[in-house]
Order: sequence, then C-alpha cells, then structure tokens
Amino acid sequence: MIEQQLEHVRAELPSNVTLIAVSKTKPISALQEAYNAGQRHFGENKVQEMVEKAQQLPADIKWHLIGHLQTNKVKYMADFVHLIHGVDSLKLLLEIDKQAAKVERIQDVLLQFHIAQEETKFGLELNEALEFLASDTYLSLKNVRICGVMGMASFTTNEVQIREEFKNLVHIFNHLKQACFYEEDHFKEISMGMSGDYLLAVEQGSTMVRVGSKIFGSR
Ligand SMILES: *Cc1c(COP(=O)(O)O)cnc(C)c1O
Repeated sequence: MIEQQLEHVRAELPSNVTLIAVSKTKPISALQEAYNAGQRHFGENKVQEMVEKAQQLPADIKWHLIGHLQTNKVKYMADFVHLIHGVDSLKLLLEIDKQAAKVERIQDVLLQFHIAQEETKFGLELNEALEFLASDTYLSLKNVRICGVMGMASFTTNEVQIREEFKNLVHIFNHLKQACFYEEDHFKEISMGMSGDYLLAVEQGSTMVRVGSKIFGSR
C-alpha cells in the first residue's frame, strides 16, 4: 500500500522536486516500508518523535523537521537533522547556530513565511525577514545556512486562492534571492505543497513537497 502510494506520487513529480514523506504519528514499520521502497527524505513535526525514530532506522535517512520549532528543542536534533523548515525568528536562528557550532556542523534551514489567510499559521512577513537578514547579528552567524523558503497555503478547496498563496511564496523567494542571496547557489529551495495541494505547488515552482496522508493514510 505505502509502496504503491509512493510510486504514484513520485510519478507525478518532476525530477527536480524532492519528495519528503511526512511520517508524523506513524509507526516505525510504516517508515521502514517506505524506506524499503527507496524513500530517503522523511519529515516529522515533533523533535522528540523524530529523535526516537531516527535511532531505530537506517542512518542514511535525511530527516526534515517541518513543524513549528521551540528554541529549547533544537539541541536534541542538532547532530543529525538534515533540514529545518520552520525558522520564523532570528532568536530561533541564533539557537540553531549555537547548537550546530557545538557539534561542528553547518545547519541547513528554510525561512518559514506566512502566506495563508488563517491567522493561526506561523511564519515571517517579508519585511521582517529583510530586516533581520540585514542585521549584524545575522551576518555574524557561522553555523547556519539559509537554503530557501517554506510556506503553507490556507486550508481551503479554493484552488484560485491556494495558487495565489503559492505565487506569493515564490515572489518572496525571488525577492530574497535578489536582495540577500544573489551569489549563494545553495539558496534554491521552495518548500510548499502537502497531500491536498502538491500538484498546484509544483505547478507554481515548488522544489520540495511535504506529503503525509497521501502516502501513509489518514492520521
Ligand atoms: C503534517 C504536515 C504536512 C503533511 O500533511 P498531509 O496533508 O498529511 O500531506 C506537511 N507540512 C507540514 C508542516 C505538516 O505539519
């Protein structure tokens, strides 16, 4: 079942788009099945759950922390997490830098932007990001590398609206690329698209889709 669903989703994605299998709340056996079917990128939204799963699964898995992240949790995953998608403050970035320095890593991260209409979704506004990216504090960080942006569209069936929200994230990406990351080749990721909207996201230029229930079944 999981294998078929993975194949189905993969077949719809262009080769430049990374599929992140979002395995939150799912048992080890489900992740192992996906791994056996060739899946290597997994996404979790809770640090503790990700740490426990990582200990029990093969070491070549690339773990993505996709949810809202509290500063005090960063230390538990600093030595192995592949990409942190939800960076929405300079304070959090400072802590990630500090913990990455301790384990002598350069930690890849994405900046999360608020693109949905709903007020509950976390994320930065473009002006906020431009401001902290120009600060001496940010410019002095040595152990973090910003690789792009992440966002979540509104929970709606209105495709016109979802498309506009994804367009807005691409616009934010392009603006930041021009303004702050012009010469940095690693600033190239746009993480957008979930089970319900990943095809729309890919159409708008997503480079990473985070797909959970479509692969593993409902939670
Ligand atoms: C749970 C989650 C997903 C995956 O959601 P599905 O609808 O199950 O595909 C993607 N991104 C984030 C940030 C999530 O928390």
